[in-house]
Amino acid sequence: MKIESSIERLFDAFGKRASPGQEDIYCEWGIKAGRHANDIIESSIQNDSTFPPIARLNQALINKKTSSSMISDSSIDRCYYCCDAGVIPYLYEPEGKSAYKYYIRMFACECSQALPSLRSYFEEWGELQFEDIKKNYDKSYSYPHIVESIKLEKNKELNEKQR
Ligand SMILES: [Zn+2]
Repeated sequence: MKIESSIERLFDAFGKRASPGQEDIYCEWGIKAGRHANDIIESSIQNDSTFPPIARLNQALINKKTSSSMISDSSIDRCYYCCDAGVIPYLYEPEGKSAYKYYIRMFACECSQALPSLRSYFEEWGELQFEDIKKNYDKSYSYPHIVESIKLEKNKELNEKQR
């Protein structure tokens, strides 16, 4: 749905008559929100009891962005390895300055989002670090999320040992 019609639908749903200025403001928001805009507006129409101010739509947008960067939305075709961030995390054991925790360094993915300034993950490592472990995770987990979980898990173990 085009953003203008989505916004009109929103005003209609709450029986609100928008001034032209107001509608512009909501359309601007919609353009900024990009691919999440229609979803957020639709869920506001379905769930909100009052007409949503921009602040509420923004909050929904932030929630949506943070959750979708961790969990891949199956309706959107994102790169499994990097979540379209262009970088793949590699987990390192504690050493040097990071002697007390496992830590992550980023390498370039091989998809179209790849950051050319970084060394290539697959050239450097040949294969995924957690190839074997990734099958234990639900399909909704993207690879960066799996590495992050493993890091948290290992650091927790480390903390408990040091106590
Ligand atoms: Zn990628």
